[in-house]
Amino acid sequence: MSPGDDTETATKSAPSLFNKCHKFFDKSGDYAKTKDADLYPYFRPIERNEGTSAIMNGREIIMAGSNNYLGLTADPRVKEAARDAVAKYGTGCTGSRFLNGTLDLHLRLEERLADFMGKDEAVLFSTGYMTNEGVIQALAGRNDIIFSDKDNHACIVQGTRVSMADTQRYRHNDLDQLEKLLKRASEDRPDAGKLIATDGVFSMSGKIARVPELVELANRYDAALMLDDAHAIGVIGPGGRGSASTFGLKDDVDIITGTFSKSFSSLGGFAVGDHDVIEFIRHEASAHIFSASMPPANTATVLKCLDILEEEPERLERLWEISDYMRDGFRNLGFDVWDSETPIIPVVIGDMNTCFQFWRDLLDNGVFVNAVVPPAVPPGQTLMRTSYMATHSNDELDKILDAFHKVGKQHGVIGSNGHAKTN
Ligand code: PMP
Repeated sequence: MSPGDDTETATKSAPSLFNKCHKFFDKSGDYAKTKDADLYPYFRPIERNEGTSAIMNGREIIMAGSNNYLGLTADPRVKEAARDAVAKYGTGCTGSRFLNGTLDLHLRLEERLADFMGKDEAVLFSTGYMTNEGVIQALAGRNDIIFSDKDNHACIVQGTRVSMADTQRYRHNDLDQLEKLLKRASEDRPDAGKLIATDGVFSMSGKIARVPELVELANRYDAALMLDDAHAIGVIGPGGRGSASTFGLKDDVDIITGTFSKSFSSLGGFAVGDHDVIEFIRHEASAHIFSASMPPANTATVLKCLDILEEEPERLERLWEISDYMRDGFRNLGFDVWDSETPIIPVVIGDMNTCFQFWRDLLDNGVFVNAVVPPAVPPGQTLMRTSYMATHSNDELDKILDAFHKVGKQHGVIGSNGHAKTN
């Protein structure tokens, strides 16, 4: 065969591995149908972001679907800190903490976080996801047992998989079931190391974990207790110190993890705990050792947000006031908001089609929220996950409630008199 003569070249057929990918985009599938109807609520670009307001599709919307709890992503002081860090250290670290990627800024932030959380030591990771995955992978192995709440975030689940430990999942917040599992494990495998891992605040329901009972079970069955406080630090507890502090139990929880992608307006994550445990994680977590460190701007952003959090405690008070106002507001309109206790307020919608149409109608009324569908929630319990910032104005909050009232009536989620439908 000569060059250019392709008559005998076998055309490579698509590998069967990709069949599922093509099937996903099939014209009759859910994805294509929602996309064609312009109801697909995910991956929507934001063209400009000012915190509580943003531009999407050329139109101004009120943002009620972020995790920007303190509203600091648009704060001029925070932006300036990020710019100064770029000027001094450049745009990226180009290496892991282990090698060339440690800055004095990282050490300052670790010290500051350990201090803030009242623990011996802190270790940084480049995302919150990597933090939980890395901590669990470093601490638990084949001979250990992990007890994990069924509603835990995906990165805890991923950590349990990577660790290869025996993972036993208990029903959401069902501490009777957890105790049974702990008891059986203690009898059958008394030498196995045990870790209880749970979200401190659950990301969809806005519910706080039952920390006092978890501490008691951990003590009784010689288990380590780890709380993922991604939605708790900078949000709940004295000074925003998270779920363990809410109950005055920070000394009784072994490891607390957090993220910088929510209250701290940045990207990255951290774990705090006793010196030996954190130093061990620093040397054993693959996600820490084999991935580049937090960029300078992200690190400086968190330090500035910590300053503001400590200097302006009224931000937290405002956030809690707003959360109460919105919870009451939704309930008065007749919506079911489960038993949220934080600025995450889920609004139950029902079936999948109504959910997507509801989401789209809210957007057309100038409000952005997150549509949550199974498997993140049980079938028939789709949600509009709403979440609030300390910087939302009263006017913005009322506009959000008005939009929900209008769209809720339109779709029969609430009755025409603005009360929950009983059937
Ligand atoms: N834990 C929880 C409970 C979360 O909700 C999230 C993010 N949504 C993470 C961890 C991961 O954090 P990050 O986005 O910073 O990677």
